[in-house]
Amino acid sequence: MWSWAALRKRALPSVRGVPQNLWNDVLGGLPVLARLPASDRSRLHQLASALLKKKGFVPVGGIQLTERMKVVVAALACLPILRLDLRWYRDWRSIVIYPGEFVAPRRAVDDAGVHHEWEEVLSGESRNQGPVCLSWGDVEASVRLDGYNVVIHEMAHMLDMRNGEPNGFPPLHGGLDAKLWTRVFTAAFEDLRHEAETGGQMSIDAYAIEDPAEFFAVTSEYFFELPQRLAWRLPQVYDLLAAFYRQDPLRQASA
Ligand SMILES: [Zn+2]
Repeated sequence: MWSWAALRKRALPSVRGVPQNLWNDVLGGLPVLARLPASDRSRLHQLASALLKKKGFVPVGGIQLTERMKVVVAALACLPILRLDLRWYRDWRSIVIYPGEFVAPRRAVDDAGVHHEWEEVLSGESRNQGPVCLSWGDVEASVRLDGYNVVIHEMAHMLDMRNGEPNGFPPLHGGLDAKLWTRVFTAAFEDLRHEAETGGQMSIDAYAIEDPAEFFAVTSEYFFELPQRLAWRLPQVYDLLAAFYRQDPLRQASA
C-alpha cells in the first residue's frame, strides 16, 4: 500500500542538486510548478537533479542549450512522477532538443499493400526506449496554464509505453481496476468525440481524440495544468489520473 510518508523516506540518489538560485528562477517562470506546496517543490528539486545526472541532452538544429533550459525540461518532466519514482523513466536515456517544430519522416503500407511516405511536423515525439524529442519553442509555450504542456505530454507517452505500444493504458498500480480504467477512458473518448462532431468550442483540446494514446497524454496535460476544467468535464478521468499519478492538483494548495 502506498503512503506518502513512506515515499518521502525512500532515499533518492545522492546527487549534487541544481543550485537553489537557478531552481528558484526556473520555478518562478513555470506556474504549473510554482503553485506546488513547498514539500513537493523540494522533492521535485531532488528528482530533477537526479534526472539531469541520468539523462543526456542532445541539442540539434543549431540550438545552444543552457543549464537553465535543461533545468526547465527536467523540472517539468519530473512533475508526472513526483509521487511515482524516477524508475518510471529508466527505459530511456536521451532528450533531444530542437529549436522549434521539427519534421519527422513517416512510412506506412495501406491495406492494398501500397507504400506511403510523408512528413509530419511535430512539437514533440517519444519513442519506446527513447529518445524524447522536444521543440524548445513549444517548451517555452508551455508556461501559460492553458492545458498545453509539451513536456508533460511526452512524459505521459513515456509512462504509457512502459508496458508496450502507446495505447492510453499505462501499467496500473495495485488497487487500480483495469476494467474500470478501460470503461471510463473509452466512454470519455467517445464523449469528447461526440462533442467534436456536434461542433462548437471544444472543452478539451481536440487532439485528445486523435487516438487513445493522445487522449491519455492530452488529459494528463489538463490534469496538471487545468485540473478544474478536467474535473468538471471528465470527472471520472480526473479521478483515475489522480489515482495513477498519486496527485490531486485540484486540492494541492501552495504552502
Ligand atoms: Zn502525443
